[in-house]
Amino acid sequence: MNSDCLFCAIAAGDIPADIVHRDDRVIAFRDIDPKAPVHVLVVPTAHHATAADMGTADPELSGRVLAVAGEVAAAEGIAESGYRIVANTGDAAGQTVHHVHVHVLGGRDLTWPPG
Ligand code: 5GP
Ligand code: ZN
Repeated sequence: MNSDCLFCAIAAGDIPADIVHRDDRVIAFRDIDPKAPVHVLVVPTAHHATAADMGTADPELSGRVLAVAGEVAAAEGIAESGYRIVANTGDAAGQTVHHVHVHVLGGRDLTWPPG
């Protein structure tokens, strides 16, 4: 728990969120400013700044996060049509919350390359 961290606070229940999944290590909740009809953030409750940091420190947790991303996509009805998982990392990629999170985006056609 990082006391200055927004997603640690959401994971702890100190800040409300529209939670769609919670287990012993991972939560998922709807993005407050959705960029697609489905936009869910999958977040480990443990604080790691980036996906790479999590992957180094706890590979099993990284797998759990990706598995939950797939479960969320299925539950939201976008697994068949297709969806995107994104982990913005660092300033140039637009990471604004420095607690690793995987965006699950879908429900519309997603262009490539991303902006
Ligand atoms: P990043 O820009 O770091 O890749 O993604 C951070 C995401 O967190 C953004 O899409 C932003 O809309 C979302 N976000 C920021 N503050 C809150 C909040 O208080 N609640 C929720 N549910 N999402 C948030
Ligand atoms: Zn945190």
